Amino acid sequence: MPVDAPNAGEPFLRIEGVSKTFGTFQAVKNVSLTVEKGEIFSLLGGSGCGKTTLLRMLAGFEEPTAGRIFLDGRDMAGVPPWSRPVHMMFQSYALFPHMTVEKNIAYGLKHETMSASARADRVREMLDLVQLTSFANRKPHQISGGQRQRVALARALARQPKLLLLDEPLAALDKKLREHTQFELMSIQQRTGVTFIVVTHDQEEAMTLSDRIAVMDKGEVRQVGSPTEIYEFPNSRFVAGFIGSINTFDATVTARDDGHLHLSLPALGVNVTARDVPHVTPGQTVTLAIRPEKIRISRDTPDGPNALRGSVRDLAYFGKDSLYRIALPSGTLVQAHAVNARRGDEGTRVADWDDAVWLSFDPAAAIVLAE
Ligand code: ATP
Repeated sequence: MPVDAPNAGEPFLRIEGVSKTFGTFQAVKNVSLTVEKGEIFSLLGGSGCGKTTLLRMLAGFEEPTAGRIFLDGRDMAGVPPWSRPVHMMFQSYALFPHMTVEKNIAYGLKHETMSASARADRVREMLDLVQLTSFANRKPHQISGGQRQRVALARALARQPKLLLLDEPLAALDKKLREHTQFELMSIQQRTGVTFIVVTHDQEEAMTLSDRIAVMDKGEVRQVGSPTEIYEFPNSRFVAGFIGSINTFDATVTARDDGHLHLSLPALGVNVTARDVPHVTPGQTVTLAIRPEKIRISRDTPDGPNALRGSVRDLAYFGKDSLYRIALPSGTLVQAHAVNARRGDEGTRVADWDDAVWLSFDPAAAIVLAE
């Protein structure tokens, strides 16, 4: 029978009931989560939700007020930053302006005991990894913002950390460069296999980059899951509203039958069918949430259980798709996102201003939120 390794079954990083209090203010509240080796894991949340404080505790710059952090099976309590197999890449990149790209990367190895030739080899390897070999002798002001970001990444990876912490790694880049750099970051992570924990307030960035995301709010982790789980199965109004846009309606659960919940929406005067979720009982007041792109717009009466009559109040044309605001007879506005397709002479849009339309959605697209 094989003998288990000492840390078999133990996740690479385990954060257990970690809190951080500054004076009387609790910046991080009882956070527990695990991260597996080789993951890109994002801490996502608005300003002041505690994500940087959590990152700083992983780096060892702050000690938790309560709770424990285990990295690679080792309790990090009292372990100083320089003794942790962790490196933190700051938002500002903190490059030395008077040093060349090569020297900046080599600086990351200053405290490593290694021969000069091994050091030079490692720097060359890192330059190659971030595709900056031909820029080795430039200074930071002689390269672009995206290239500076890659120098910072190369310097951070030069020490071969087991865990790299990235605080808003793309925030200094403009939108177009940010999108491109996201893919580069993912490719570098895949080639090195280093576990990345990324702090970001940008939900699209978190969705693109991450294997898994922890959504944070007021010091607490509200949900952990893959981008798909977080988007398709949000566990609360907060998470549903934080990631992408969503229509929400007050509703009461009237019944449950094989795999469905039946709801009445008093403000709209309609009944709808939604996918079943646990921990909800008939009679309970809940929120019904539906993503705009899950709502179909048609001129003909749709088949199926969830059909609402309305008229087009506003629309915004984005080329490949359009966003509609549809007024229901109750006056409630519903957002629907539809792909534009040429339909003979009728133009590319599904409907136009003031058109009377039907809205419909599958029960599977109707999310019932108890919180
Ligand atoms: P941002 O995206 O704006 O950086 P964040 O989610 O990273 O926000 P943190 O930097 O972790 O938030 O801060 C969380 C809360 O803790 C904030 O209200 C902040 O003012 C407070 N805080 C952080 N560090 C300290 C400190 N050293 N002393 C006192 N309060 C602090």
